[in-house]
Amino acid sequence: MTKEEVLKRLKEGNIRYLSSNANDGDVSETVRIDTAENGQHPYAVVVTCSDSRVVPEDIFMTGIGELFTIRVAGNVLTDTQLGSIEYACGHLHSPVVVVLGHTNCGAVGAALEGDGEKHVKAITDYIHIAIGNEKDYEKACCLNVEYGVKAAKEALGSGSDAPLIVGAMYDIRTGEVKWL
Ligand SMILES: [Zn+2]
Repeated sequence: MTKEEVLKRLKEGNIRYLSSNANDGDVSETVRIDTAENGQHPYAVVVTCSDSRVVPEDIFMTGIGELFTIRVAGNVLTDTQLGSIEYACGHLHSPVVVVLGHTNCGAVGAALEGDGEKHVKAITDYIHIAIGNEKDYEKACCLNVEYGVKAAKEALGSGSDAPLIVGAMYDIRTGEVKWL
């Protein structure tokens, strides 16, 4: 699939999701065996939050072998996430990377309230840099995505071989993905 075809597939999947009660993605034994024997060729990398309300395979109505998903609270893109993206784009040839934030992100909320405790601080430290002095919850969630897109672009470069890297925001109430 081309970059444009991947984006079209994701957008259509999200529209289908809005009026569905179950994911129609292929999780059959056939696709399990096919991907086990022939390897994976995920057409998109999705970096998103660990929030249980944000399930990328469902949001885009996908099955086995379609999305290379990286989930971490606050969809922060530190070295381990960037390494995962580099692997997916460099070795599995995924042409598109989506940094998918979401409304009411608890990690962004924690950063707006100050510093997290123990290891959570690593996440809030990143988000503080991403959002700067922004105090508005919704705007901060968007800034956090934009910062992630920038980090991914810096890591992967912008040549003609580079993947398309886009930001998007998932509304946990409506289910809609807004492309930034
Ligand atoms: Zn979140």
